[in-house]
Amino acid sequence: MDIDFESFLPFLKALKRGSNTADDDTDPDNPTEDGATPAQANSAPSGATGGDASNSLAEPIAAQNAALQRAGMPQPGNPQAQNAGSPRRGPGAQNRAQGPNPNAGQGQNPNPAQNPGAAQVAAQNARPPIPLGQAPPPPKPPALVEYNGHEVSDPRVKAGLEAISKYFASSTVNVRSGDRDYRPQGSPAHSPHLSHHAADIHVMGKTDDQVKQMLKDPMMADALRGLRVLQHGPYTATEGPHIHIDSVDETGQPADANEPVEFMHEGMDAAGRNVYTIDPNSPRRAAHLAAQRRDEAE
Ligand SMILES: [Zn+2]
Repeated sequence: MDIDFESFLPFLKALKRGSNTADDDTDPDNPTEDGATPAQANSAPSGATGGDASNSLAEPIAAQNAALQRAGMPQPGNPQAQNAGSPRRGPGAQNRAQGPNPNAGQGQNPNPAQNPGAAQVAAQNARPPIPLGQAPPPPKPPALVEYNGHEVSDPRVKAGLEAISKYFASSTVNVRSGDRDYRPQGSPAHSPHLSHHAADIHVMGKTDDQVKQMLKDPMMADALRGLRVLQHGPYTATEGPHIHIDSVDETGQPADANEPVEFMHEGMDAAGRNVYTIDPNSPRRAAHLAAQRRDEAE
């Protein structure tokens, strides 16, 4: 079908007047706001005089598109218009579909620096996961044990002192006595200090009462296994109140390392002076009482 280009001339001339371009030699690369370029309008006469057929074909399409755009209709052949009538496919739409992130999808703040939530999500997505086994070990609190020149030979007692320091958030464990080859005032004849299985301590910032009470935390049960924790109170027959720790049993022999910790006290009141008593709630005592009841039941 032949196209009568001449019939478009009045329309194009009217379009040119309507576009209000006073300059007849308009830059052909300069588009106007409605999409129909002055160049196309201006070139219409040359096209109409039989010049470039493809250029002439573009003119009515551009004019139609301009009219459609003014009417708010999507224009055929315009990639921007394809999105106009369809559901949004922008990043915001995708994020809304994914859902859980409240910061994404609003599309109000594309700048991560001003949007900490979005920046955090981006950082998490960007950082590859660290494979198990290659992750650095978690930091451990240091054990601060001040021996003050005293020798403590028993490795289980030393390990217990370090565990106590860590338990009290790296508080200093001050050792007042360790291995002994003499008997100070009030020390029993078979003191585990003489067999080098004991240490006397204070914990900096904590009273002896607090130390013994807090060491009964089940969290410390494994660290103190096989040890005895003995509080010498204000009425002690020894040289002064302190916490005594050793690794022997009631017969003075090294305790089974699997035994629960034993808590004892001496000199908590006048009647308790020089009387060594197992605490009623001591784990080792409780375990032995349970075993005794089990034996009696059989
Ligand atoms: Zn002692």
